[in-house]
Amino acid sequence: MAFADSITQYQAISKFGYSKTTQKHGLAIRHFFKNNQPYFMVLWPHSIDFQSIPEQNWIPSNKKISILPLNWTIDGLKYGPSQQGYYLTLDLCPSKKPLDKAQLNRLIDYFPNPVPVGVAITSDWIKHHKEDWEFLNQLNTQKKITISWINHSHTHPYDSKKPLNQTFLLTPSLNVEEQWLALEKTLIENNVTPTLLCRFPGLISNEALLKQVKALHLVPLNAQAWMAKGEVPTVNGIILLHANGNEPEGWKRFWHWVEKQGTKNITLNSLELSQ
Ligand SMILES: [Zn+2]
Repeated sequence: MAFADSITQYQAISKFGYSKTTQKHGLAIRHFFKNNQPYFMVLWPHSIDFQSIPEQNWIPSNKKISILPLNWTIDGLKYGPSQQGYYLTLDLCPSKKPLDKAQLNRLIDYFPNPVPVGVAITSDWIKHHKEDWEFLNQLNTQKKITISWINHSHTHPYDSKKPLNQTFLLTPSLNVEEQWLALEKTLIENNVTPTLLCRFPGLISNEALLKQVKALHLVPLNAQAWMAKGEVPTVNGIILLHANGNEPEGWKRFWHWVEKQGTKNITLNSLELSQ
């Protein structure tokens, strides 16, 4: 395997422009150096994926374009774009337990491949689960699953002794912007493309945090059905499960729900902002 690229000075910006090579208009949202060469990270209309392009290929422009076709909801999206079906998201918060491979394999056996899943990822999980991380990316390459990456923060701070307004991203004196940007940087160093999707650790946020993610051009995903909490999926709902070994109860409820519906009645959709 090739040595990881060195990504430095990764920072948030906001500059409209277009690509010299494709003549396509977009919005540059990050600037960084890859192996000492300057790059922009660009968002295009109707796509959730970031794309890195060399600085010399980007021409600044005053033409403002609309990037987000989805209706923005201030408390985060609980529903995906309206298509008949459901949106499956798997959280990989920091965990001492291994990736729940048995549940991933069961999804692959049960649903048509590739199974579209949103994976809410933290740098901390990647750091401590190298083999599981490779395994997950292999499933993606083998087209058994299709992953839309969701930024779930760099370290996912959590202190069970603190009230909810003083933990997760509300931890006092936490550099929250760094929490989002450092996860993007981790993904890029691992040759994975970030998307504009993010999920607040613990699903806990406040108005200031929401304003901040919006300024960073991220779209927060909430959950319509957090299975471990006994919530029941409704059509177009975003389903939340943990694939980090910490929520077997959620999976039990999920499969119970699936069997009740009958597999043929459940379509899993990809988290695309195509409407
Ligand atoms: Zn989490």
